Amino acid sequence: MGAGQQKFDCIVLGAGIAGIAAANKLRLAGLTVCLLEKSRGIGGRLATRRIAGQMFDHGAQFFTAREEGFISEVEKWVAIGIARPWFGGPGHERFCGSDGMSPMAKALAENLDVRREQKVEWIGLENGIWSVRTNSGTFEGSRLLLTNPAPQAVDLLEVSDLIVSTGYLDTLKTIEYEKCISLMLLLESELGLSKTGIIQNESGKPIATLTETSVKGITDRPGIVIQSSPEFAEENFGSSSDSIFKQLTDALPYSGPLKLEEMSLQKWRFAKRIDHDLEVSFMQDEANLLWHAGDGYISPKIEGAFLSGERVAESIIVSFRANGTLSSQGPGESKHAD
Ligand SMILES: Cc1cc2nc3c(=O)[nH]c(=O)nc-3n(C[C@H](O)[C@H](O)[C@H](O)COP(=O)(O)OP(=O)(O)OC[C@H]3O[C@@H](n4cnc5c(N)ncnc54)[C@H](O)[C@@H]3O)c2cc1C
Repeated sequence: MGAGQQKFDCIVLGAGIAGIAAANKLRLAGLTVCLLEKSRGIGGRLATRRIAGQMFDHGAQFFTAREEGFISEVEKWVAIGIARPWFGGPGHERFCGSDGMSPMAKALAENLDVRREQKVEWIGLENGIWSVRTNSGTFEGSRLLLTNPAPQAVDLLEVSDLIVSTGYLDTLKTIEYEKCISLMLLLESELGLSKTGIIQNESGKPIATLTETSVKGITDRPGIVIQSSPEFAEENFGSSSDSIFKQLTDALPYSGPLKLEEMSLQKWRFAKRIDHDLEVSFMQDEANLLWHAGDGYISPKIEGAFLSGERVAESIIVSFRANGTLSSQGPGESKHAD
């Protein structure tokens, strides 16, 4: 595949964990895949920001591995050193990226063709070929997988004036998200609030999760990440940084003076998917060879997004086999018949 190639078997919108999991599986099946990612970084809500050379995870802090398909995957990540257990006893382990969450995503995407800073603005289908227009180019694919949060996928479909099956669109419209505000603080001294490096509050308080980054082991200087409750985020999404800083630091379980070196703020409009009754692992619009996957389905976390990505890839592979453009050998040995 040439570096500048713009035609692919499958285009994946989004290089979060779902898009990466799907693309890796499609690539192993012998398909050409391109991921279009609007951000400069890889990982989506597996997000790490560097502040004064220190790594702060400001999206997901940790992940679970409860389902067989994901447990074996995480064992591989631990074996190659990109993830490690953080807290929780046997059977309840919580894992994190060894050097932060986004470096882990980057390592998982190592063999993939990811085009960064490509915001998909419009999609269209003509003669069975998808045309995907971004802020700086047009890409073509015979299959299209969307992995952005469902409300953003719905907006894209509506802006594109695309006729999709009502079942597909109506299901996407039922998937909703809570907001979250993450406040990252680099400090002069440790607060010493927890043994593990994480405090998770019951609902109703302004702070949902508090992480001490040096105890977590991803910074060598003292730092904390305060993640707000959805209620706080809803009320304060439009508030100034100063007001958010004051309210969240006032809510810390710490009464001493806070010696601040640097701060950074991230507002997440689509942070955690709200619980629902959907039992599918992804959505497919069969007539249009269009799919949607991510944490909107199996569970609202990294594990759920990864499994949704793997399962949607199987469905896309089956669609290629059904029209005879892919041999039916196992992943890793398949030959593209085009
Ligand atoms: C603050 C916070 C805390 C969390 N805590 C945890 C936790 O502790 N444990 C846990 O398991 N999970 C947690 N989660 C949830 C977890 O991060 C997500 O469930 C998971 O990362 C979702 O992955 P995804 O691939 O489905 O979506 P995303 O990671 O959102 O990936 C979608 C990608 O699509 C890109 N994109 C969107 N629109 C476009 C476009 N138009 N063009 C191109 N690219 C586009 C985005 O930039 C993004 O990279 C947390 C999330 C947040 C925000």
